Amino acid sequence: MESLEQIQNFKGKYPKQLWYLFFSEMWERFSFYGMRGMLVFFMVDQLLLNEVDSNLQYGATQAFVYAFTFIGGIFADKILGFRKSLFWGGLLMILGSVILAIDPKQFFFIGIGFNIIGTGFFKPTISTIVGNLYKPGDSRTDAGFSLFYAGVNLGALLGGYLCIAIGKGALFQSFIPANLVWNVAFGLAAVFMVVSLVTFVWTQKSLGPIGISPLLKLETKKRKTYEIATYFGSLALIPFIILMVSNSQYTDVFMFIIGPCSLLYLFYEMRSFSLAENKKLIAALVFILFSIFFWAFFEQSGGSLSLFAANNLNDSVAGLHLDPNGVNNSANSLFVIAFAALIGIVWIWMNKKKIEPNTIVKFGLAFLFLAAGFYIFYYTKFFADATGKTSLNVFTFGWFIITFGELCLSPIGMSVMTKLSPQKTQAVMMGMWFLASAYGQYFAGLLGANIAGASENSTNLEKLIIYADGYKQLAIYALVAGVILILISPLVKKLMGDVK
Ligand code: GLN
Repeated sequence: MESLEQIQNFKGKYPKQLWYLFFSEMWERFSFYGMRGMLVFFMVDQLLLNEVDSNLQYGATQAFVYAFTFIGGIFADKILGFRKSLFWGGLLMILGSVILAIDPKQFFFIGIGFNIIGTGFFKPTISTIVGNLYKPGDSRTDAGFSLFYAGVNLGALLGGYLCIAIGKGALFQSFIPANLVWNVAFGLAAVFMVVSLVTFVWTQKSLGPIGISPLLKLETKKRKTYEIATYFGSLALIPFIILMVSNSQYTDVFMFIIGPCSLLYLFYEMRSFSLAENKKLIAALVFILFSIFFWAFFEQSGGSLSLFAANNLNDSVAGLHLDPNGVNNSANSLFVIAFAALIGIVWIWMNKKKIEPNTIVKFGLAFLFLAAGFYIFYYTKFFADATGKTSLNVFTFGWFIITFGELCLSPIGMSVMTKLSPQKTQAVMMGMWFLASAYGQYFAGLLGANIAGASENSTNLEKLIIYADGYKQLAIYALVAGVILILISPLVKKLMGDVK
């Protein structure tokens, strides 16, 4: 077994373990985004819910998924360790997708409940393990997270496209009986979740001591009792989740409670850390806070931007005829895959030249890219025809620009969480990072509903103008956030101490 020292002293740009985690996360995200991409359509088409309810229900599932990463993180840090937590989460996700594959209509919310808890255990832990492959201060860490993030998006792209296409009967229809398309589509998510978990199990030996139980000092019997209690406890939580998700009005209450609770928990943990460690945690909170705004804007993609795409975009991009919603869903993933490694290499190159921006400045840049992207979305209105249809080319260019913002924030954010947290609380901080995404998703829904509400009963051209003006507002807010971040960067830098 390799020691931590040997693992972290790897030669070259990336440690070999990163590739194993890359594939495990890629297939997990295939399954996750495959299912996510089917939810709204399935609810409207098969469960016969109306569009507003489906959107609310969809928002609730996303908020819960990311909120449970915080709870999963606590149990990973305190009881299971990263590896067992990841395994348990993966197992629950397989179960959830198998349940959906058996009878998606009847067992819809039960399957979703398993997936929420499963992702809560899986997602923060795999991301934390990536951070543990690097020594504190290793300048290659951000590049590693960028590569890992390409894996996330490769899975998202494949799963997001294949599952819904099968479900809608648009792919492989000659092999799949029409009455089984949804079973196969959810089944595909299950199959790739198995591939994800098998990849992890096969390669986990290479992680040496990373992610083993935090309770090794306890006697085995006691440790096992805690672990089994965690397994049963998480299973017992599932009916509660099912109830909450299937009644989306509970989401507001839940979101109102979980954020303050997570802060209280963190302040409680902070009692036992040194002043320098606590300053770093405060810096982490600044990153987490700003990321909520970022995701609230960014996640318009699944909400208002998909309506904008359906109503106001033509179907021609780079000389090809493509569905504008398909482009809205996948262009960003494609750009991440194309540019993530490049950005990683740029950071390493800048570091060598001693001109690499600090993380907080990278966050500021992320907002500037976001602002530019939303300004481009606004600018599409100047390319519109009389029916209110405008250029998909310009719109796609907006996503191209936003992708660079995402690459300055999302992988870097995960990376900095692992750098700023003491070992004892790493998965919790990663969970809080994703909890910010839960709030982002939640606010994205409210922002999107606001824009959509303003355009009710309007003509297509009026809709275009209302949506475009809404995006201009968002561009201005993003610009302000970026400027604030860059202005406060010296202060946050101080809090971060030796972390760059
Ligand atoms: N798209 C990324 C992922 O799935 C980030 C998600 C998020 O933090 N909102 O990992």
